[in-house]
Amino acid sequence: MTGVYNPLLVCLSLVVAFLASYTAMELSGGLNALASAKRRPAWLAGGAVSMGVGIWSMHFIGMLAFSLPIPVGYDVSITAASLVLAIGVSFIALATASRGALSWPRLVVGGAIMGVGVAAMHFTGMRAMEMSPGIDYTVWKVALSVAVAIFASMAALWLAFTLRASNVENRVVKRLGAAIIMAVAITGMHYLGMDAANFAPGSLCLADAKLDANWLALVVTAMSFTVLVGTLALFALHTSSLSISLKRANRQLRYLGTHDALTRLPNRQQLTLRIAQAIEDGARRASPFAVLFIDLDGFKSINDSLGHGVGDDLLQVCAERLREDLRHTDMVARLGGDEFVIVVGNAADTSAAMTVANGVLGRLSQEIVVNGLPLRVSASIGIAFHPRDGANADELLHSADAAMYAAKQSGRNTVRVFEPQMNHTALRSLILQRDLHRALSDDQLSLSFQPKFSVASQSVTGVEALIRWRHPELGEIAPLEFIPIAERSGLIVEIGDWVLREVCRNIARWDADGLPAISVSVNLSPIQFNVPDLVARVDALIAASGVDPSRLMFEITESTAMQNIERTSRTIEALQARGYAVAIDDFGTGYSSLCYLQRFRFDQIKIDGSFVRDLDSSGQRGSALLSAVVTLARALQIEVVAEGVETQSQFRTLGELECDQMQGFLLSRPMPAAELPGFLSSMAGRIVASGRACAAPIG
Ligand code: C2E
Ligand code: CA
Ligand code: CA
Repeated sequence: MTGVYNPLLVCLSLVVAFLASYTAMELSGGLNALASAKRRPAWLAGGAVSMGVGIWSMHFIGMLAFSLPIPVGYDVSITAASLVLAIGVSFIALATASRGALSWPRLVVGGAIMGVGVAAMHFTGMRAMEMSPGIDYTVWKVALSVAVAIFASMAALWLAFTLRASNVENRVVKRLGAAIIMAVAITGMHYLGMDAANFAPGSLCLADAKLDANWLALVVTAMSFTVLVGTLALFALHTSSLSISLKRANRQLRYLGTHDALTRLPNRQQLTLRIAQAIEDGARRASPFAVLFIDLDGFKSINDSLGHGVGDDLLQVCAERLREDLRHTDMVARLGGDEFVIVVGNAADTSAAMTVANGVLGRLSQEIVVNGLPLRVSASIGIAFHPRDGANADELLHSADAAMYAAKQSGRNTVRVFEPQMNHTALRSLILQRDLHRALSDDQLSLSFQPKFSVASQSVTGVEALIRWRHPELGEIAPLEFIPIAERSGLIVEIGDWVLREVCRNIARWDADGLPAISVSVNLSPIQFNVPDLVARVDALIAASGVDPSRLMFEITESTAMQNIERTSRTIEALQARGYAVAIDDFGTGYSSLCYLQRFRFDQIKIDGSFVRDLDSSGQRGSALLSAVVTLARALQIEVVAEGVETQSQFRTLGELECDQMQGFLLSRPMPAAELPGFLSSMAGRIVASGRACAAPIG
């Protein structure tokens, strides 16, 4: 007994197969890139149902397309079983294709499970016809159809993996093409399987429900169309709303990274950019400009006596007044505290800059009423000119700062133009630079260690090594002051080697004393990071000490990472390949883009303390941003550490935001190496041993 095919229904089955394949491609790509950990299981389950319905419908329509010379029906429960099989297989396929990296074993095992599953669904579906006598299968044809199913599944998995990456060009077109190939393979498998079936003459169909095939095909097609198109639309909506909120968080991050939260004026980073641009313009059009360094007089005493609230309001009013009357070529920025800077463009001679400075003094001296309190402030202003008083932003700000200092010395509420002998800061850095050589040889450097804690359990997850310099005459010099000097003189490479040797020496000693094996973070300056043989150098030092690379994490800042993206990626990968972890430091203060988090595979993000401080002062703003970073980091499986945690309320908010770890004075200040063993013993049982063990996201 032979059957015939209805060509229209065969085409229809091909279309449904195509739609199911395309949905699968979209879902596996989208699930990997965007779904947050929380929603993923739901999307995976929903996606599997929709894809399963699609594959099953294709197969069922294919069966309906085939008609025997006798009335044929389908047993409902066996047909339902084949649908369940299709959904199960789709679940395995989606879960495989949307996670992790592609490897041969993964492809072969995943493809084999899928292929056998699809074939099982097909032959179960055939069983639903309940033929008597039973269908006789030609063995080699069955084997061929199973082989095609396995091969098609592997090809599909491979395509899904390859087209998953976000940087594939013309992704939609390629996915459409891939879906067509998959659809042909799936339908091909189906019709090969049908061809393997031989129906004995005079066979009978014992299944009840002998419905009209065309009508049934229509219903099944309509149903699967609704499910598949609905899934695609829902998913597109979900992905676009996610990417919109990511974009918004990104814009916000950029704004916060370039503006001061309190006064909404541009911050130091923006100022540096603006000055660099003015220097470039000046080189073309020979237009000199001036930098005005403004420091409020007596602000500290107002802040201390009337409270931070009044101080903040006062700063906001002052910022407003500084902004008034500025020409469009000028710019005002806040450096921090009560320090502001105005860049005055087209200042060919002193008079233009002086006019602006006197205008500022006049506006600031008018009475300010805060909380019903009449207040009066004045300011001291220093002026430096480009190119006379400095060649770059740093030098110009130094000179203007020195002139401001001179204005303070001469009785405040006044303006001074820079003169070379004012440069006390320059003199100090000369002295420091001279003495830094001796600091290395004379044992004046030491390391402090600051623990990091798990937010959920408050156990120690590791420590950060921080350098200290005790100068024989000048006392403690802050790293923020001498590291830049060491960088300029090139001595930072030698200092960096010393830090690494010292860290390893301490680790070896703690291990010998039987302390828990915690991981130690080491800061790398941009100069160190860009030394061509960094990895070999680090390796040699570590090997000599016998310490395991997994005990070390290197911290680099955003701006270091962004100097040369290609080289940074390579160096990070090389370090990670050797077992070191790599963290991004001071996150949010530099180029501030969430996008490059996807580019560089950091193990840890350290969110700059200024954002943590914002949690207290401007509640919602800081927390919206932190939660966006936490969500993204979760999806990329990167740990998030909040720096500079000082208050209980910051700690509470970080817990609510599900931030992984924190570091700050609230839990522990940096301590000398000698104190760490005592601290760790007192924390016994509250330590997540061996750094990387805490790499699993908490919660
Ligand atoms: P960093 O890497 O961001 O280190 C954190 C800084 O924040 C440390 O300052 C630490 O003492 C301070 N800190 C920790 N908790 C709190 C808190 O709750 N509130 C506040 N206000 N501050 C907190 P430190 O030790 O002065 O170091 C300053 C910077 O100097 C470091 O910033 C790092 O960039 C650099 N540095 C320190 N040691 C080294 C080193 O060995 N090599 C290199 N290249 N740079 C280093
Ligand atoms: Ca650091
Ligand atoms: Ca930091």
